[in-house]
Amino acid sequence: MTADAKDFICTATRTELEERLRQWHQPAFRATQILDWVYHKRIFVPAAMKNLPASLRETLQENFLCQALRVRETQEADDGTAKLLLELPDHETIEAVIIPSPGRYTFCLSTQVGCPVRCYFCASGADGLVRNLLAGEIVEQFNCCCTKLGKLPDNIVFMGIGEGLMNFDNLTTALDLLCSPDGFGLAARRITVSTSGWVPGIRKLADLERQWNLAVSLHAPDDATRAKLIPEPMRLPMADILAACDYYRQKSGRMVTFEYTLIRGINDSRDQAAKLATIALAHHAKVNLIPYNQTSPQFERPTDRSVRAFEAVLLERKVQVTVRVEKGSKVAAACGQLRRHAATRSDS
Ligand code: SF4
Repeated sequence: MTADAKDFICTATRTELEERLRQWHQPAFRATQILDWVYHKRIFVPAAMKNLPASLRETLQENFLCQALRVRETQEADDGTAKLLLELPDHETIEAVIIPSPGRYTFCLSTQVGCPVRCYFCASGADGLVRNLLAGEIVEQFNCCCTKLGKLPDNIVFMGIGEGLMNFDNLTTALDLLCSPDGFGLAARRITVSTSGWVPGIRKLADLERQWNLAVSLHAPDDATRAKLIPEPMRLPMADILAACDYYRQKSGRMVTFEYTLIRGINDSRDQAAKLATIALAHHAKVNLIPYNQTSPQFERPTDRSVRAFEAVLLERKVQVTVRVEKGSKVAAACGQLRRHAATRSDS
């Protein structure tokens, strides 16, 4: 956890603020003003909260973490993709990406420093888990992106660094703040939580019965192929993952998306596409194909032709399928690359 034990101002509830204000002999209505600054104006720095007395601004600054994340580096691609390297209060770093597409902006946010799953093909997982992000760090990460963009996003995907469902409490606390009408007021249906297939987390998320979208990184149509991509002990049996996906769909009413990173010679054959189609239809799931963005010499990106052939098999079988358009490759857009580059530079 962070070295600083203070709470983040961006996760303080009305009840907590009113209790603090009572201790500081301040009127309770100041809580409404503070919440208005944080959630409506997205101002987390007390010095800028102009309708508060100067002494209260100082007290807030002393007692809370306020805009504690720092943008250490920003890389921007010609297509408008912006990748932010953010420094946390304990000097660890995470990445957040702002992805433009016609008529909308999507934020891709991280949930952990490093990742415990350690997929063989992924730069983020290479060094394992360092620590979970706190809810306040997730909300501040969101706000750093809002500040860069100058407005709220249209969509948020938690597909950056980390296995979010292994940081369940902090992630769902942040999600509730992002979606609450008393918080940032975003529509839950505009938010996607991604998981590598962490079954206990999928089931817990389902039990909350919210409207968040769930994206499950299947990457393979069978356990043997999956074993080439995701190591034990975090890789769980596909039958359990698929049963948990069904449970999520029943509880949330939302179709699950299967994320499928296409890697040459591993999982990109027509047979594998046919098997994936059968699974997607049986579990009423959409499929998102992601041609591998090469970060490891061990794995290769498939040719455009084989991506199209794989997609065609799914389309023939009437599976809802999309192919992820590569964004910002010039800014090291595959998750974890910017952080690793920064770490390499500071090591050297
Ligand atoms: S692909 Fe996702 S789950 Fe796998 S190691 Fe990378 S960040 Fe973790």
